[in-house]
Amino acid sequence: MYFDAHFHLFDNTSLGDNLAANIGENSSSDYFFKKYHTRESAIGGVVMGNGPLETQGENLPDNFYYCVGLDELSYFPLTAEIYNKIKIHLQNPKCVGVKLYPGYLPIYPNDKQYEPIFKLCIECNKVLAIHTGMPAAVSAKLKYTRPIYLDDVAIDFPELKIIMCHFGNPFLEEAAAVMEHNSNVYADLSGLIEGNFTTKYFCETQRDYINLLKTWIKYIGDSKKFMFGTDWPAVNCIEYQKFISQLFDPSWLDDVMINNALKIYNIRLKGL
Ligand SMILES: [Zn+2]
Repeated sequence: MYFDAHFHLFDNTSLGDNLAANIGENSSSDYFFKKYHTRESAIGGVVMGNGPLETQGENLPDNFYYCVGLDELSYFPLTAEIYNKIKIHLQNPKCVGVKLYPGYLPIYPNDKQYEPIFKLCIECNKVLAIHTGMPAAVSAKLKYTRPIYLDDVAIDFPELKIIMCHFGNPFLEEAAAVMEHNSNVYADLSGLIEGNFTTKYFCETQRDYINLLKTWIKYIGDSKKFMFGTDWPAVNCIEYQKFISQLFDPSWLDDVMINNALKIYNIRLKGL
């Protein structure tokens, strides 16, 4: 079992359909919950929001939460109307944070126009999740996705809990430096692979890359800093669970696969 701290519900948009088709699955919410919300797989999770603010976070079952996602350039510079919509989300108990999409949007994470949102997260005791590293869209620009820009935010807002989504991959060295330097920065391990893969074949053919991942995880050396996520529909979640599990010492797995996400996102699971 695992808690999926980073996945998407694109619900039959073209991006979702393409990603799902790559792994032989269907991008609908119904499909996701039927396939993965079982005793053997996801006990809960956090949806990283996309699309209109009006509909994000709707119809989530117990133990599934969301970060309100700001993936539209039209939200910036932030107007009072958008700010208030974000605030209403953050007052919803199902909403555990804000997700920023640097790279997909040409705005650096440390841009001043995000500061009201950082303050709002602190005020509402919610988390800030930030895309870092390789984006899924060819039009997204890599310079905005460098982990180093999270250092400014973490230092200037020490009360803010920050999730570095995708562990900055493949900017792993920079990601590790930012995490070592800032006790308020955590990483989710979603999206390190995209598309169809088997763990066995991937580990055989990408051994040096796997060793790099293990090296920087060990360098940080803190079992409380990492959390499992899939980035579904980018990958099959069961196969991805196998892949992430073999990166860690078995004694870390309860924390990485479930406990850390619950603690960092302030989630108490129901019925378990
Ligand atoms: Zn994602």
